[in-house]
Amino acid sequence: MAKQPAAPNTPAETGDALPAHIFRQAVEQSALAISITDGDANILYANPSFQRTSGYEQQELVGNNESILSYRVTPKLVYETMWAQIKRQRPWNGLLVNRRKDGSRYLADLTISPVVDEDGNTTHYLGMHRDVTEVHRLERQVQNQKTLIESVVDAAQVAIVLLDEREHVLLDNQEYKKLIGDLGKEPAVKLLAALREQMGEAFAKAYDKHRNIAAREVCIELPKRASRWFSCSVSWFEEQDAGADAFYEPLRRHYLLLTIQDIGELKQQQETIRINGLRALLAEQERVQGLRETLAGAVYQLEEPLNMLSAVANMLERRRDAGSELPAVNALEEAMKKSREALETLRACIPSQDGEAMQPTNLNEILPDVLKLATASLLGAGIVVEWLPSDVSAVVHGHPAQLTNLFKQLVANAIEAINERRSGRRELRIACMTRPDCIEVYVEDSGPGIAEELRYKVFQPFFTTKGAARQHLGLGLAMAQEVATHHGGAIDIDPDYRNGCRVRVQLPRSGEHHG
Ligand code: FAD
Repeated sequence: MAKQPAAPNTPAETGDALPAHIFRQAVEQSALAISITDGDANILYANPSFQRTSGYEQQELVGNNESILSYRVTPKLVYETMWAQIKRQRPWNGLLVNRRKDGSRYLADLTISPVVDEDGNTTHYLGMHRDVTEVHRLERQVQNQKTLIESVVDAAQVAIVLLDEREHVLLDNQEYKKLIGDLGKEPAVKLLAALREQMGEAFAKAYDKHRNIAAREVCIELPKRASRWFSCSVSWFEEQDAGADAFYEPLRRHYLLLTIQDIGELKQQQETIRINGLRALLAEQERVQGLRETLAGAVYQLEEPLNMLSAVANMLERRRDAGSELPAVNALEEAMKKSREALETLRACIPSQDGEAMQPTNLNEILPDVLKLATASLLGAGIVVEWLPSDVSAVVHGHPAQLTNLFKQLVANAIEAINERRSGRRELRIACMTRPDCIEVYVEDSGPGIAEELRYKVFQPFFTTKGAARQHLGLGLAMAQEVATHHGGAIDIDPDYRNGCRVRVQLPRSGEHHG
């Protein structure tokens, strides 16, 4: 196809439609400082805005070089680059420090365009600049504030991280970076997920409505490592989009500021206080329980001879002739009456079980506490502990302190049994299992085990397999059995277990027994 000859430019396209004086007026009235120079930057023309910006009069400018404005802090290289560029007939744009006539300085955003004639020679330069000192000051101020904020945030003792709505990290501090080392990437996402799980609906609501969340304690489970505790706070801030699109129609963006404080040490202290409190409570309960068992045992022991005396008195009574008086029988009856009264007084002295209310009690929580209470003995004896919690929550309706004491007793027995063995495995295994009708706890030790004929006897008060020299009352298992029975459960020793002793405790699941 034959090429169409290019249509000649219209007057509107060339600007010829406008009279020349309009161009002059446009330059004269422009808010930009405009100047026209010869090829060596000698000023031929400067518009009123140039005069206002520089402080020089028209006659002071014309004939002078543009360098009249130079403040000589602008690096030489800037001028060299500028000249190299315009000499190649390319426009140049850059920032120069200019000095006004009165000596004050301003930052000039300058654009120089070479004016080229029909022969391709540069005849003049067109310079256009504006004072951008204020813009620069504001930019610096923002930059300084950003640096200040970053250094404050960095110096903070808590981890701080700023996230966008897609939970992408925009800014963080040194403490947060340390957390990445500890928890892996991305700690903020992990903590928010944990918060989400812990708070459920409340988190979703706060998140959707951009409401703050104050100091929530969150636990992060780490595989094969101790879990870590943090206190997390969420706050939101709203930003107006700075893009050109949003100039007339403001677009808001929300950012999430997450502050994370490691409260592991605090939790550890709280836990120590809790365990010490529990230890004191259990010691007191044990003391009362011991007293109960001792007095109950004493009553039990005294009842037997008293019953024998009663039988003797009955025999003598039958032999006595009607109407005759036997002073010995009378004295015996009197002694027995006094003895029964004494026995009743003794029975009345048995302290009652403490008033701790029955409540849903999770054995998955109680059993680790029992192990914590025994930590020193377990470590001292070099016993390897295996703790197997039940998969689902193991809640019974009971007295937490009594149940803790029950298992504490079983663990103490197990440690003692293991210590009896000089060699071989030194293992304690506690397993909690939920059955359809009850919860079963197994306490297994690698000690010498209990002989079959003693399996029931060991639960009797004052029975002990230990020699008299040892300080044993033989009340531990009796007490454990009493607590189990009191909770509608049972305790026995597995006859088939051959590797030591396995004690099984069965307790009704919460809701199935209300003793
Ligand atoms: P100079 O010794 O004048 O120049 C510094 C370096 O610039 C030299 O080493 C040389 O490499 C180069 N140079 C200077 N003149 C020429 C030339 N004719 N040909 C090739 N290279 C050269 N300067 C300002 O400080 N503020 C302004 O607002 C400003 N506006 C300008 C507007 C226009 C249209 C033009 C063309 C120039 C403008 N200049 C401006 C640049 C100015 O002319 C000076 O070059 C500059 O001020 C440095 O001056 P000086 O006396 O410090 O150094």
